[in-house]
Amino acid sequence: MLNVSQLTRSYGNFIAVNNVSFSIKKGEIIGLLGHNGAGKTTIMKIISGYLEADKGEVSLDGISLNDNPKLLQQHLGYLPENLPVYPEMTVAEYLDYAADLKGLKADKKVAEIKRVIKATDLSSKLLAPIQTLSRGYKQRVGVAQAILANPKLLILDEPTNGLDPEQTQHMRQLIKEIAQDATVILSTHIMQEVNALCDRALILKAGQLVLDEKLDALQHSQQLIVETDCQD
Ligand code: ATP
Repeated sequence: MLNVSQLTRSYGNFIAVNNVSFSIKKGEIIGLLGHNGAGKTTIMKIISGYLEADKGEVSLDGISLNDNPKLLQQHLGYLPENLPVYPEMTVAEYLDYAADLKGLKADKKVAEIKRVIKATDLSSKLLAPIQTLSRGYKQRVGVAQAILANPKLLILDEPTNGLDPEQTQHMRQLIKEIAQDATVILSTHIMQEVNALCDRALILKAGQLVLDEKLDALQHSQQLIVETDCQD
């Protein structure tokens, strides 16, 4: 479904992502693991169209995303590490704005916003300005905007980062539910999160992909996991 081929991206002279290739099948939940600075966010931003690669290609169902921003908008949902929101906007106002950005037509918009509010359990917070929400609720708003228009591919950048244990549990449950209808890539540096949610793990070290394995095979790669600092 998603094919990432020889992706490379530098910041100045520093190579943040170095010749990374992987493929994802429809319905898989992929964990993108690596310590801080390994290149996870850079890869996610490139796939989501927020950053250009220096080299390489990303394609969805055989169609290159590099030249198809419209395809990206239609089929991809992205929860960035830090949601670029207007803090004074209420949750309802923000989701309305996000639905416009997704290009949802007026006749579909209201029903779609209702659906994502229900899915993320945000109905009690609709009139709350985003700046008044806890980190857990802000992340739910982030997921709500990401799943607008039912994207085929969901990219979640450290979805449980900064959440307390209860919020983390809620977010993991939400991801499991969402993943029934979408293919998901989630980045994390918590191995336990990958164990709880993912079918496959990709481990990045200093911008390079050092492991791509199904979860059941991962027990044999403990040494590598320790080396890449990915233990909880
Ligand atoms: P984290 O878990 O901290 O978010 P990450 O695995 O997502 O880390 P990236 O954010 O992709 O890693 O960063 C990869 C490397 O590129 C890091 O060394 C980072 O300092 C560097 N980097 C990222 N963005 C920029 C930028 N805009 N300018 C310069 N260097 C950058």
